[in-house]
Amino acid sequence: MSRINHNYDKLKPNYLFSDIARKVKEYQAEHPEASIIRMGIGDVTRPICEAVTRAMSEAVLEQSRQETFHGYGDEQGYAFLQDALKNYYASFGVELERDEIFVSDGAKSDLGNILDLFDASNTVLVPDPVYPVYADTNVMDGRKIVYLQANEENEFLPMPDGTAEADLIYICSPNNPTGAAYTRAQLADWVRFAREHRAVILFDAAYESFIVDSDIPHSIFELEGAKECAIEFGSFSKMAGFTGTRCGYTVVPKALVRESMGLNGMWRRRQTTKFNGVAYVVQRGAAAVFTEEGQRQIREGIAYYQENAKIITNALESCGIKYFGGRNSPYIWLKCPGGMRSWDFFDKLLTQANVVGTPGEGFGKNGEGYFRLTSFSTHELTAEAMTRLKSILH
Ligand code: PLP
Repeated sequence: MSRINHNYDKLKPNYLFSDIARKVKEYQAEHPEASIIRMGIGDVTRPICEAVTRAMSEAVLEQSRQETFHGYGDEQGYAFLQDALKNYYASFGVELERDEIFVSDGAKSDLGNILDLFDASNTVLVPDPVYPVYADTNVMDGRKIVYLQANEENEFLPMPDGTAEADLIYICSPNNPTGAAYTRAQLADWVRFAREHRAVILFDAAYESFIVDSDIPHSIFELEGAKECAIEFGSFSKMAGFTGTRCGYTVVPKALVRESMGLNGMWRRRQTTKFNGVAYVVQRGAAAVFTEEGQRQIREGIAYYQENAKIITNALESCGIKYFGGRNSPYIWLKCPGGMRSWDFFDKLLTQANVVGTPGEGFGKNGEGYFRLTSFSTHELTAEAMTRLKSILH
């Protein structure tokens, strides 16, 4: 008889986005004239830039010709993309070897898959509020989760506090959903803590390309000693509009060793066994992100979203609403006015301003009383949404 993984019984249902969709649908049905603006979108809306789509088109043609056809590639990615990533890291002062970089089909898969390398007896430190994947992937494996309290007092940037014992530590900076980003000094404390506890930091750098301040590291490996205690996950999704095209990368340093096992070698073994690489066409597109033209074009796209974030934060300031993020991040995490609960503020915004955002409570208990807005809309709709927000709050 087959026995199933009963850890799946312990997963909390995630109704956040379906509840939002249902409420919006019901409201729209009752008010067909309402023009609803969606400011809760976690997906990019701008198309992929020309330099990248051209590279992908050329790669498609290569696949159509006998002489240039590519079949299976290396599971860990083509050298041309690993080298492009290696040079990108060098631009932050991080020296990597090509075979420390593994190309993936996105950060989400690898954030889950990496857990293959760790025993179920590890205790995991996960911030609250948080991107739900970290907790759920560990519940599926039956690991004990300890929540790290992110709140207004620590500006949603929890630090090791002596009581936080853990074997695996998730850090997402810049953060989804709070938009908060750790400074160099704060990350140095986390690296010190991880080294002292022989823990491994799983560093999610999915929003790295939104960083503008010089004291916010782009990579955990900018910190001394991090190669002995961290794995980093990167993504082309928000950097270059690859949410539907799928490409990311994971950096597993060779210096990361636990119980005499090198995690780089373990991950290579895992990937060559369970993964068959990212499409050649997609990798060609991803490599074009790092050409001069690609960089110029993707930076324009990011700047467009950053302008939206500015429109949002200006509006919040004019209403005297406290917020976090929006500067090194596409996310703005605001404190619901007048001590409102997240879902009450959602209802108010939907029914009075016809604007949709995401109730913070959906990201963890510390998200109650907060609300996430995103900058992934157009300038026009963002500005209109903020005019409506101001009119109901002033
Ligand atoms: N990490 C965080 C914090 C995210 O918010 C997301 C997507 O929303 C991801 C990872 C997933 O990225 P990818 O599209 O590369 O799988």
